Amino acid sequence: MSQTEIPPAIPDSSHDRWTDVTPQALYDKCTTVARNLWWSWHPEVVNLFRDLDPVRWRQLDHNPIALLSEMTPDQLAQRASEMVLYTRINQAHRRLKEYLSNTQTTWGAREAGVLGSSPVAYFSAEFGIHESVPIYSGGLGVLSGDHIKSASGLGVPLVAIGLFYDQGFFKQHLDIDGFQHEEYLDTKVENLAMEPARDPQGEPITIAIDTLDGKLQAKVWLMRVGRVPLYLLDCDVEGNRPEDRELTSRLYGGDVRTRIRQELVLGVGGVKALRALGIFPGVFHLNEGHSAFAPLEVIRQRMHDDGMTFDDALREVAQKTVFTTHTPVPAGHDRFDANLVEEHLGPLRQQLGISGEQLMGLGRVEPQNENESFCMTVIGLKLSRRANAVSSLHGHVSRRMWAHLWPWRVEEEIPIGHITNGVHVPSWLAYPMQSLYDKYLGANWQQTMGDPKVWQNIYNVDPGELWETHNALKSRLLEFVRRRMSRQCRYRNEDENAVEAARNVLDPSALTIGFARRFATYKRADLFLRNLDRFSELINDSNRPVQFIFAGKAHPADEPGKKLIQRIANLRHDPQFAGRIVFIEDYDINVGRHLIQGVDVWLNNPRRPLEASGTSGQKVVLNGGLNCSVLDGWWAEAYNGKNGFGIGHGTQHADDEIGDQRDAEELLRVLGDEVIPLFYDRDADGLPLEWIDRMTNSIATLAARFSAHRMVMDYVKHSYLVAAGGVSAKMNMP
Ligand SMILES: *Cc1c(COP(=O)(O)O)cnc(C)c1O
Repeated sequence: MSQTEIPPAIPDSSHDRWTDVTPQALYDKCTTVARNLWWSWHPEVVNLFRDLDPVRWRQLDHNPIALLSEMTPDQLAQRASEMVLYTRINQAHRRLKEYLSNTQTTWGAREAGVLGSSPVAYFSAEFGIHESVPIYSGGLGVLSGDHIKSASGLGVPLVAIGLFYDQGFFKQHLDIDGFQHEEYLDTKVENLAMEPARDPQGEPITIAIDTLDGKLQAKVWLMRVGRVPLYLLDCDVEGNRPEDRELTSRLYGGDVRTRIRQELVLGVGGVKALRALGIFPGVFHLNEGHSAFAPLEVIRQRMHDDGMTFDDALREVAQKTVFTTHTPVPAGHDRFDANLVEEHLGPLRQQLGISGEQLMGLGRVEPQNENESFCMTVIGLKLSRRANAVSSLHGHVSRRMWAHLWPWRVEEEIPIGHITNGVHVPSWLAYPMQSLYDKYLGANWQQTMGDPKVWQNIYNVDPGELWETHNALKSRLLEFVRRRMSRQCRYRNEDENAVEAARNVLDPSALTIGFARRFATYKRADLFLRNLDRFSELINDSNRPVQFIFAGKAHPADEPGKKLIQRIANLRHDPQFAGRIVFIEDYDINVGRHLIQGVDVWLNNPRRPLEASGTSGQKVVLNGGLNCSVLDGWWAEAYNGKNGFGIGHGTQHADDEIGDQRDAEELLRVLGDEVIPLFYDRDADGLPLEWIDRMTNSIATLAARFSAHRMVMDYVKHSYLVAAGGVSAKMNMP
């Protein structure tokens, strides 16, 4: 884990005695804490688990349940005694208990009280909560995880629904030629903080969905994320056909049929699960089209329970439904043909009393157009009264993209607003930075961090202190890179020289630029490769050296993406770049956390306007790194000329090739004229004062605005309360 340097607790002799608590009671306290993912955003608790066995902690992907399962209560007590952990265990346990019981004084209790008995049901196909829970692949998952953590912190009444993937997303290895290989590992359920979800009678829940091809069943797990229950549907149940038992094995695996079946389970199955749990949501929040079948099942329940007509039930359900679109990239919008839709939705459609054509019409822009396939985003937009994009620019793009759904409206009146994404601060903030904030922002800042005024105090920080803190984080990142690089070499059986070189790779004093994200084409990880000679000249100036850390996975079916990874990874064999450009394998939350906490600069150069928001750069802000980014997604509304660096001028080109070439030039210009000179402009004490100014500006102007606390508060105020009928405010339109 990256949060280190927590001073050991002062031994409190009244608590650190064997006699106070039996080994079994101590073990039970640890288990209780490990079984709520609350621990994952509390560095002092993370460090407590790590201190139980630092080596195994790392080997077990930072999984406390797996770690505890390797110890007997007596061994744990022995270790706790040696390491003086009794007080820390008691404290962690007490703090969790207080957190869970302390629900009356939260922001949510004050501002979202009406949702109390009818919570928000938050649907997402993936949740990225911690590296030890591999049920996410990338941005959408991490965002969903951050959303529910902030909802927990704010005390917003919310339950989450997702799928349990027992093989999750793949582990990435590069072979000796730099080519990506995927490894799927079975997750051990007993090592996850999950238990069977139970109905009000205490019975485990299994839901069933009728298709024309037979019944599809799923069991339901409960994972506790602070105060938020996360319910995960899992098709690995007896009674399902063998191929269906594997339906939810992998994230974004399989063909289009797998896809619609997974989405049927998430949407329709998710709503059935909530009913079985005795939960009656006041708001349904659908994230991306994956769960957009959900309202159909809610409509069915309304018709069945209260004898409503389809049209009346649809109107009522749409009022309670919020749809968030997360990408303008076409591949992100699932489409199914009529046969697949009828096979899977046929029985439900009959209960709704609508024809096949009517159902198809809900997923089509032009309901009667038989050449149009069924689009999950279209049905999501049609079955929700409130929809939003995830940044201001993405709002504009989405309104244009879906304008033909409302042909009688002008573009400004297309009912898609925006709520810009943000990140869960406690999950991404490095401990040394947290200490700095504790000192300058006031002890209570974590409770009020959604308020921009709180962050103005960052201007009181001594520049030298900020710089030193950043450099400590940077050296921790370099240690991590060296450890990973040598491990990668050993895994590939490279010779001792290579391993030794990996152990010493990178220069702690050089300007360090990070780039980590999925290797999707529009993200243009290869933009810098377009002018390789000039690039080499730029970064190899011996007075002002620059180095790059890359990471990211390509989708298993994406050959061009894999080729791109190969090209970048193999630069390590090129004498111009050896030791200056490294590729860290298996990008995940852990790799991401190290990178965003330690880099000087975070590079982001997507093809505008395809990056709907992006959140990794927001994590960098909190830790004192500077963004250097195309004016796309969140950065288009964040950059003010003094809080980072902007690539280009927010223009787009109709021709991709010309646009790419122009942005490639602009990237080198910004690096050469702005980033590198500013970083190496030092005062007599060796401090880059203007650079530190930018760090301060970045934190002061961006930390609050791009926090998940602000994001969730916006959803509550502008979306959830309106959908629940509490207030009649309008969705925030730009
Ligand atoms: C934050 C994060 C992302 C999303 O970042 P982008 O800026 O959208 O690329 C993806 N993967 C991981 C592991 C992350 O931590």
